[in-house]
Amino acid sequence: IRRIGVFTSGGDAPGMNACIRAVVRTAIAHDLEVVGIRRGYAGMIEGDFVEMDGRSVSNILQLGGTILKSARSKAFMTPEGRAKAAEQLRKAGIDALVAIGGDGTFRGAAVFYEEHHIPIVGCPGTIDNDLFGTDETIGFDTAMNTAIQNIDRIRDTADAHDRLFLVEVMGRDAGFIALNCGIGSGAEMVLIPETFTDIEEIKERILSLMSAQSRSSIVVVAEGDEHGGATQIAQDLREDPAFAKIDLRVCILGHTQRGGSPTARDRVLASRLGSAAVEALLQGHTNVMVGVVNGEIKLTPLKHVYSRKKTIDYELLKLTQLLG
Ligand code: ATP
Repeated sequence: IRRIGVFTSGGDAPGMNACIRAVVRTAIAHDLEVVGIRRGYAGMIEGDFVEMDGRSVSNILQLGGTILKSARSKAFMTPEGRAKAAEQLRKAGIDALVAIGGDGTFRGAAVFYEEHHIPIVGCPGTIDNDLFGTDETIGFDTAMNTAIQNIDRIRDTADAHDRLFLVEVMGRDAGFIALNCGIGSGAEMVLIPETFTDIEEIKERILSLMSAQSRSSIVVVAEGDEHGGATQIAQDLREDPAFAKIDLRVCILGHTQRGGSPTARDRVLASRLGSAAVEALLQGHTNVMVGVVNGEIKLTPLKHVYSRKKTIDYELLKLTQLLG
């Protein structure tokens, strides 16, 4: 390997820049050249490349977003699009890749390797933490902290008016952010896709909470919750006469959770993983994702990353019920 291409793809996550920096600096330390591929697979197909040196990643460690930009590409889903991407990489002399992204990015990476045999190693970059093969993904800790800070603020206003707030957090089809934020913010209830709670039971629990406490209540709802998210649940509650006297509000935290400066934990994780990805390529690994499992760097085949399901910690779920 002489020249590595690095790119960010799919949903952006705080800490991606710290990861890019680690990839670039580790590669340079091994006398490799590094090319930044802008806008993920879309930029790969168009040949949107930028030469990177040690200085090009100065002062980015602390920035949210990604200096290489991220995108989704329909063209890369087709063999023709991927052939074009491979051609662009060959023209630019890129002989190995580091992909920073989520499960879609790794599905693309795996099929690309099968077809074009350009070695590729993935770094888990998504706020959702829904990737098998790593205890935490880059961006998850920052997103949780952002959500918790916002829920603290909502608590103040909820308390002042004795309101019931349904706060929706991100997480796609997984409840990692919701579960942890629920505990960290002292939410009275947490609704996540991994467990089903009947709407009647939700109503009963909220009513008993509101009457017992006669004060504010916060319910954290994961966006992937099967009742259809906070807006839909609120509608169901409002249609029930038992809720007529309850001052009910919905707050969707949305994209605030994606932005902002990465936490210390995400910076360290991203730095370790970016560096480990380059080392893995140099050791001849390909089609794997680098992760941290029980504190140690671990390589997991990409096909396991996207085909196996990472389970939530059911002890944490019990804790939300016990403490809320
Ligand atoms: P996040 O989970 O944060 O959204 P992601 O990496 O899962 O990140 P996706 O949009 O699902 O984001 O995937 C990124 C890109 O990967 C897609 O736009 C597409 O170009 C490519 N991709 C996804 N799935 C495949 C696939 N099955 N075959 C080829 N390319 C794919």
